[in-house]
Amino acid sequence: MVYFDSHCHLNDEAFASDLEETVAKAREAGLKAILVLGYDVISSRLAVEIASKYDICYAGVGIHPENYEGLSIDDIKQIEELSHNEKVIAIGEVGLDYHWKNDEETKANQKAFFIEQIKLANKLGLPLSIHARDASEDTFNILNEYRPTSGAVLHCYSGSVEMMERFAKLDLYFGFDGPLTYKNSIVPKECVKVINVDRLLVETDSPYLSPVPFRGKRNEPAYIPYIFNMMAELKGLTETELEEKLNANFSRLFHVKL
Ligand SMILES: [Zn+2]
Repeated sequence: MVYFDSHCHLNDEAFASDLEETVAKAREAGLKAILVLGYDVISSRLAVEIASKYDICYAGVGIHPENYEGLSIDDIKQIEELSHNEKVIAIGEVGLDYHWKNDEETKANQKAFFIEQIKLANKLGLPLSIHARDASEDTFNILNEYRPTSGAVLHCYSGSVEMMERFAKLDLYFGFDGPLTYKNSIVPKECVKVINVDRLLVETDSPYLSPVPFRGKRNEPAYIPYIFNMMAELKGLTETELEEKLNANFSRLFHVKL
């Protein structure tokens, strides 16, 4: 089996002491591509460094909606500079997050950073990895107005089935993670069943959101098969059938052959 992890954070300090072993373990598990996403300038730079060091690692660079404080729109130029590295295959993670703060000023700032980074992705011809939490409607409106011209994935999709069907009309992809394996996680399972398999991706978002049976422990790319197997079961496909579909989706969006 050949797998990928389309969204993780090997640049998180949780991997500082055993990055080498973590990548080796992922390789043994069958992963041929690991997309490491930045969430501010420093973590984006680290993502590029990791991607330069390990052949199976790739980088996404971007400023996460929770990290714009203390930055100006001008700082996106640093993201643009990093994006010129040949292992950078996406702009992300970027988007909107109204979970902790949702006053008008916060929303306006997050929107400005999101829009600017969509424009950057379009200018560079790169797909986007989008984080949207408690902000489905605004995320939809922005993507509807500023269409990503090189594709985009809503990573760790956590919205409703109805919202997903609206997003699907914008040609977006949907990434699913460890929560798909949780018993009480009804809506993500329903989403996976409903959406066309040509729109699906698997990701770990490690070090967060470990799948069963590792729930509560640090997550890592080598655990992708647990999420993949649950997705195959939900779609009623054999592992080989799903492998072929998902790997084609990953290659189509990120232009990386698996
Ligand atoms: Zn993430």
